[in-house]
Amino acid sequence: MTKKMLTAVFLLISLWVYPQTGFTCSFEESPLLAPLLNNFDENDLTADDNRPYVFQLHYWQLVRDDGTSDNLLTEQDFLESLAFVNKVYNQFNIFFKWDGLTNVPNTIFYDIEDRDELLTAGFYAYVHQNGFYVPGQLNIYTHNAGGGSSGQSTNDFMPINLNWQLIRHGAIIHEIGHNYGLAHTFGPLWDQDNPFPHNCEHQTRNPGDLGFNANTHGDKLVETYATPYSIDYDDVVLDGDCNYIGSAVDCTGELYINPEFKNFMSYTRSDCYREFKSVQIAKMRFTIREVFLNGLESLRDTIHRKELYEPYQGAYTEYAGQPNGDPPLFQPGFEYYFFECECPEQQPCNVPSAYDDTNFTYTNNALLHILPDEIDYSAITHPNHTAMAIKHPHEAFWPQPRRCFDNWLSPPIIGGTITKFNDGIYNANVTITQKDSLQMNDVNLINDLDPGLYNIKKSKVDGSVEETNLLKENE
Ligand SMILES: [Zn+2]
Repeated sequence: MTKKMLTAVFLLISLWVYPQTGFTCSFEESPLLAPLLNNFDENDLTADDNRPYVFQLHYWQLVRDDGTSDNLLTEQDFLESLAFVNKVYNQFNIFFKWDGLTNVPNTIFYDIEDRDELLTAGFYAYVHQNGFYVPGQLNIYTHNAGGGSSGQSTNDFMPINLNWQLIRHGAIIHEIGHNYGLAHTFGPLWDQDNPFPHNCEHQTRNPGDLGFNANTHGDKLVETYATPYSIDYDDVVLDGDCNYIGSAVDCTGELYINPEFKNFMSYTRSDCYREFKSVQIAKMRFTIREVFLNGLESLRDTIHRKELYEPYQGAYTEYAGQPNGDPPLFQPGFEYYFFECECPEQQPCNVPSAYDDTNFTYTNNALLHILPDEIDYSAITHPNHTAMAIKHPHEAFWPQPRRCFDNWLSPPIIGGTITKFNDGIYNANVTITQKDSLQMNDVNLINDLDPGLYNIKKSKVDGSVEETNLLKENE
């Protein structure tokens, strides 16, 4: 993949307005991961095959001991967050599958208003020891303290914590960026040699220049420009569209050029979290490939991709035409097509065919088409006689639809009644005979009846009743 193809700009259309006071984050690079991350070579991006990576994501909401919260968010809110995250990261072939939302009841942690205090009070140890995390997945915790932080974990516990107002804000994109190996554009916050508030990355991008340090300072990436610590830095000015129009200088007195105030990994104005540079995308994918997945890469990739084709809640009906109060629902944020499909007679798919089994036929006729910004989540379901496809440029997703659901089963008959109209016309002079399952399923049921006028009711296991009227003539 070329650098150019990786470049992506994402304009935030946030339904959520976070106070302009600004977002901060307690990210510190893991000393254990640093040596691995330093193997990333900005000038050699050829190793990336651009395969899709799919992660499961679990949300955890901090509430009081009794389950209450002044800011209780609903599953719908968190599904919106997931859709928001996917719309950004799917551009880089990184995907997230809903794993669930669980409340974490703890009044002591709930009441803490300072993020650093929350962490020093042992919040992560608490959730880790009490089963409020899922191993090997991304775990995102919401709380009442300000801002957020991300643990760059070396074990299977990959935690992110975030103020509850930030789940649909660029801040969540920022924290996931940390999780996948990205530093702040302005560098680490606590670098002993280059102290807070900026670690003095010089603005020059030319390796031949005296004073060039872009590959060792700031985020150590040359493609991202030297950037002051935050928009509060002296002489930083942004216009209404987040363009930098200030006159700030770096620590050598040189004017900053193109500082990254639209970058997800900066501290910028709330509406300006908008983009990653191509090198940042490449570094996140490097981190996933070389640090998180390593030898298990292909295995996990395949397993997790299947997950996107599993409903996050609900169930398929057992029989065709059966009313379903709990239909299978799929997560929002993707474009889905449900194409008409048919399974071979010898291999019916009364339950959806397996992800890897594409031994069915399908047409281009979509019985249901869902857009990524669909807000009626109950509409994102899997109709009978269709297979689902996720519209995404990568060949792993498109155009091959998966999981043909082609259910023609009728519910079994569990009994019924035969009503004979004794006068041969419909009136009240009737004889009613109860029949059990064996009798109602007897193939000779009709043959064995005497001539006459009948009403036959077949009761089915799902509660439905099939009713037929019959006039049996003399033979
Ligand atoms: Zn950060």
